[in-house]
Amino acid sequence: MEQELIYYKDQYLDELDSPILECVGNKVCFAQNIFFPSTKGELSDMGSVGGMAVKDVKKEDGKVMIHLSSEPKLQKDQSAKQKIDWNRRLDGMRLHSALHAVAGIIERDHGIRAVAGNVYKDKAVLTFKKPIPDMIYMTLEESVNDFINANKDIRTYWDEKREGFRWCQVGTLEPIPCGGLHVKNTKEIGELELAGSGAKLEIKLRS
Ligand SMILES: [Zn+2]
Repeated sequence: MEQELIYYKDQYLDELDSPILECVGNKVCFAQNIFFPSTKGELSDMGSVGGMAVKDVKKEDGKVMIHLSSEPKLQKDQSAKQKIDWNRRLDGMRLHSALHAVAGIIERDHGIRAVAGNVYKDKAVLTFKKPIPDMIYMTLEESVNDFINANKDIRTYWDEKREGFRWCQVGTLEPIPCGGLHVKNTKEIGELELAGSGAKLEIKLRS
């Protein structure tokens, strides 16, 4: 049975009862999975399964495996409740969406491309292909916050030709290939605090 990745259908769902596809040692895999796994640039979800704490979430052999703090008394086909740490998920989606918006604005206005974007627990960091002049950083925070306040839609869609390839577009900015999770509108990101130096830009949520 294929695992269904619910976070791509509803990124706001924070709790779900679902049958277990596999349970080996302290690892559980659900038929309908809501836990986002750790990836190169994003934090994994944390939370609980059947009341037991989640230690890590990883994609293994094409399936999302939830690592629990100890061995659960769960079996294949049995149902259990997944519950994610909602604040961590939401802040992660806000910071990750902010990376898209800021990178897109810099590329549109100054032609400088971001080469990496990473989300950490309380900040996100963009790395650009070359250093950004301080002059640009001086006015960036204001223009980014104006953009975010203007209720731009954040749209994700699967590529029609390349299977498993997904795009994310913020407003009318250039779409970027992305398998991450985003809020649906820039307004949800809220006001941002930016601190840039050279080719690195740190992004924090104001609230
Ligand atoms: Zn993304």
